[in-house]
Amino acid sequence: TLAQSSGQAEPATGQLYQDAAAPVDRRADDLLHRMTLEEKVGQMVQIRVGKLRGDCQWTAGPLREDCMKTVLADDKVGSILSGGGDFPVPDNTPQAWAEMTNAVQRYALEHSRLKIPVLYGADGVHGHNNLITATLFPQQIGVGATWDPALATQLGESTSKAMRATGVLWDFAPVSDVARDTRWGRYYETFSEDPLLAGTMAAADVRGLQTNRDKKTADLTATAKHFAGYSQPANGHDRVPAQLPVRYLQDQFLPSFQAQFDAGVGTVMADSGAVNGVPVHASKFMLTTELRQRMGFTGVVVSDWQDVRALVDSYHVAADYPTAIAMAVNAGVDMAMEPSEASEFTQDLIQDVHKGLVSQQRIDEAVRRILTLKFRLGLFEKPYVDASAANGIVNGADRDLARRAATESAVLLKNDHNVLPLAKSVGRLVITGDAADSPSEQFGGWTVNWQGLTSDSGPTPPVVTVLQGVREAVGADHVVAASDQASAVAATKSADAALVVLGEKPGAEGLNDSESPALTADQQALVSALKATGKPVIVVLETGRPLVLGAAANADALLEGWLPGSEGGHAIADVLFGAANPSGRLPVSWPKTVGDEPMSYDQLPGTNGGTSSNYDPQFPFGHGLSYTSFTTSAPSVPSQVDAGGRVTVRVTVRNTGSVAGTDVVPVYVHQPVSPVLVPERRLVGFARVDLAPGEQRTVDLTFAVSQLAVTTGDVDASGRREVERGGYEVVVGDARAPFTVR
Ligand code: BGC
Repeated sequence: TLAQSSGQAEPATGQLYQDAAAPVDRRADDLLHRMTLEEKVGQMVQIRVGKLRGDCQWTAGPLREDCMKTVLADDKVGSILSGGGDFPVPDNTPQAWAEMTNAVQRYALEHSRLKIPVLYGADGVHGHNNLITATLFPQQIGVGATWDPALATQLGESTSKAMRATGVLWDFAPVSDVARDTRWGRYYETFSEDPLLAGTMAAADVRGLQTNRDKKTADLTATAKHFAGYSQPANGHDRVPAQLPVRYLQDQFLPSFQAQFDAGVGTVMADSGAVNGVPVHASKFMLTTELRQRMGFTGVVVSDWQDVRALVDSYHVAADYPTAIAMAVNAGVDMAMEPSEASEFTQDLIQDVHKGLVSQQRIDEAVRRILTLKFRLGLFEKPYVDASAANGIVNGADRDLARRAATESAVLLKNDHNVLPLAKSVGRLVITGDAADSPSEQFGGWTVNWQGLTSDSGPTPPVVTVLQGVREAVGADHVVAASDQASAVAATKSADAALVVLGEKPGAEGLNDSESPALTADQQALVSALKATGKPVIVVLETGRPLVLGAAANADALLEGWLPGSEGGHAIADVLFGAANPSGRLPVSWPKTVGDEPMSYDQLPGTNGGTSSNYDPQFPFGHGLSYTSFTTSAPSVPSQVDAGGRVTVRVTVRNTGSVAGTDVVPVYVHQPVSPVLVPERRLVGFARVDLAPGEQRTVDLTFAVSQLAVTTGDVDASGRREVERGGYEVVVGDARAPFTVR
């Protein structure tokens, strides 16, 4: 019954590990010593919730007692997940989720000897996107475009609150991979192409996710994923073996993870791919040497979906499953996400131990980490959530935050003749394009279903589309919605302007890879036909990646709204009509042609031959216009690094226009001569500065010179990661200021 599933169970008491006041490491040791090998290996496996319904299909249905017995009592499984779209309850409300996770927990606690609570995980990548009633935020790429870490923390906190209310205390987020190739189907899941921006935003998100103010539930753990080297698939396809020189891996791909380790992220998910011929799930170099010994991560490593089995089935580095399990566990995988079977994993792992293929010590190490996480989260004390409170906490929550996030994420790419902002008193506005009134395109993938909403007419999380937002802003009778090119052109002839909202079909992972990440011929033709009317044409994009624009680049104004979530329509209308001044800046480079990929602003000198990196994008990294104008002074920098190894850069930013606005000031470092190739500019810090018209502010920005470390050595990259002594320059805008590292 409801009362049963929402009440707090009597936690078992009497043993040291059950004493909330005892130190976590002593509790973990005490519990570990009481456990049998069967109980230990059970903790090392995570099963998808479908297995508890017996069907293992992507359909909702009730939990089955016999299935719970197999998984939780017999196999003693310590963690359950809902993968994308694996929602267990037909009505998919927060309360139903909370009742379900409570029921799983209750079964586990009541049918186990030691009463170790289950940790339930899911992907909450833009809010608690598993729920049909949750307010959804912009996808990560849009959050990256805000360059606003404090906002990322607030979004994390809100997501955490919603997930915790439903008993999901493990969020497989954020993605810490750096964006490198627009063909890749997971591009929108990244924050940025830049290691510092991606790492700063991810760490900020982690701080929010792992915050629990009211302590009504246990805490939630975030996940740094996918460790590491996942985001540069050789031909643009998901999970293609990557060739990554160790130098490039360490200098470009690992720093964004380090930022999260420093922020205390509890778990890491391993990269499904192979790097330099070795699947990461079998790589001791990646999962132990780099991750633990060099970077200092101490939490739990979970595999990605079925990736221990992939060592046999996909990569053929193991002849059979027991061998694969030994490889993965010895490499450093503490918990296997093995969606649909547990007993084979646990039995094979036990055999591996008996055969001496996996040491008892390695099992204890993995289980101690898992138990430590559960103790730290407070799961033993608060295994249940109050299901009756869940709807109230989640439904309709934080719409203002969602609106602000979507507004801050919008990047004004082009604004000829200041066609934007449009006057609210506009007489007649035509609105057209595939994304104008499309919840599925506005949300993108990982929205209720793994691949996103399957239709625009079915149930959807709360949403305001661009059409709705614009109608609300100017009055429905001033807006003509046109669904095809001919009627849009005809209507525009007698209108003041045309608004074309273009997007891409939602998708996730490999199914969302694109051979041609460009606006389609039809989308471009629509823009051209409207341009031919001579009326102002404003293109709004709702895309998860910078699509090659083609003829759409000729629009009078271009606004990238990314995948803005529930409040996208309000946010975009706010920007279009000047209620908000755009402040988003590109967190990635915008390619001119598909052939430019992979592209990033920090591509190395000599790229394409010549004397520079030949960086020649449609719009550069950091680009974004405003309705006001700013000037930034030349940076002033002390010539020496301070005793703590830091440099403080001082700049004065001034709003020289007539409306309030927010400038984002990126600070780069140029290294004129370096022992190995380094990017011409490396981002070392940034500031968001809010300024009233005419106002100016002086900003101090401190960075650590350790951020300038590069992996030294010859092509074997056998050297250490260190900061080269000598001359450097701070670069802000076109101005430079030298400093020396001694
Ligand atoms: C994805 C992960 C995700 C997991 C669970 C995998 O396919 O690669 O990012 O966390 O599924 O849904």
